[in-house]
Formats: sequence, C-alpha cells, structure tokens
Amino acid sequence: MVVVLLREGECKGREMARYIAAVCRLCRRSGEKLMLKGSRCLTAKCAMDRRGKPPGRQLGRRRRLSDRGLQLREKQKARHTYGVMERQFRRLFAQAEKQSGITGEDLLVLLERRLDNVVYRLGFADSRPQARQLVQHGHILLNGRKTNIPSCLVKEDDVISWKESSTKTGYYQQVVQNIPAKLVLGWLSLDKENLVGRVVSLPTPDDIDAKFEGKTIVEYYSR
Ligand code: SF4
Repeated sequence: MVVVLLREGECKGREMARYIAAVCRLCRRSGEKLMLKGSRCLTAKCAMDRRGKPPGRQLGRRRRLSDRGLQLREKQKARHTYGVMERQFRRLFAQAEKQSGITGEDLLVLLERRLDNVVYRLGFADSRPQARQLVQHGHILLNGRKTNIPSCLVKEDDVISWKESSTKTGYYQQVVQNIPAKLVLGWLSLDKENLVGRVVSLPTPDDIDAKFEGKTIVEYYSR
C-alpha cells in the first residue's frame, strides 16, 4: 500500500494519505479548538489560546467568508476533528445519503461510530490521533479479535478491549491510573477495572458534542 504524506491544503488521488503538518494549524484555520493534541489542548500552550488567528501572513483586515467558504470550513472542521481524509469522508457522506434519516445527522453518527473515535471516547487515549495510533499498532481488540483498521464502524453490543500483551506496557498502566477521572458517554459503557468497553446502543446526534453543522456539510456536497 502506498502511503502519501500530505501538508495542509494538499490532496492526492488514489493512494492512502496521512496529514503530517502541524495539527494546531488546523484548529487555527477552522477557528475552533479541535482537541487534536490531547491534554496539551487544555493547557496554556494551546496555539488557539496563544494566537487564535488563521495561519499564514495576515494581510490587513480579514475578508468575510462567502457561503461556499463557510460550507467548506464546516466540512473541513468535521474531517479534521475525526482525522478522515477527503476520499473517505466522501464515502461516508454517500453512505449517510443512502440512509433514511437526516443526512447531516447520519453522517455525524457514522463518524462517531469509527473504532478510533470509540477508543478515544472510552478514555483509552487523550486524543483521536492517539487513539488511531493505538488501533493501527494492534493494541485494541474488537469482539476479541485484533482490528487495526481505525475506520471500522462499531455496532451495538460490540466489545472493545486490549490485546493481552499490551496490558503489560507502561502506557496501559498510565491509562489504568487516569481512567477513574474519565467520563464515558451514555451510549458506551466501560468496566474501569479491566478496561473493557461496550457499545450499549448506537449514538444519536444528541449524544455528540459536534463542533460543526451537519446541515452545512450537506449543502457543501449538494452543489
Ligand atoms: Fe488545537 Fe489542541 Fe493545538 Fe489547541 S493544542 S490548537 S486545541 S490541537
């Protein structure tokens, strides 16, 4: 498989791609804290708190964004929040369109059901990029089987646990120490002693603290 490393604004066709530029730029570009750096996002080191302006040279007064610009910004915000590349995001959008509900809400639910997001929501990682890495490195089991595909969608009653050998790592011990303070969303349950999570029910849009408007993303793709 070909992996292409992309910087901000770059886009590649068919290969599997990964964004490698400074992620704080993505927050500054979208004007929102997307929480991509875990605990650092809550400290005074957060780039959004230090300088919330968009990256790049500031040339005088900022122009007002057009409707199209606002739609693009919402779509990018959603993509960057969940760490999804454009092609995969379009696929999820197409899947949401085929469902019978409201497309923007169905898209949000599909994004939320990604395995890397569930690992993050269970508190096994401080950020979605970190959760993605845990999954890719094979530390996580889905229904008892190693699953290293972060985009895999969980279903009701799925069980998320750790690979036996991963429970002996320093990182796992750190998670065990920090887990009592973590809050788990209502659609998930967590056995905090054994670090085993379960999908109690599929999430609803009300369960999700989305920083973007699903409706605006639908408008973006409808043109
Ligand atoms: Fe965004 Fe976190 Fe960087 Fe702040 S520290 S700009 S919230 S990624």
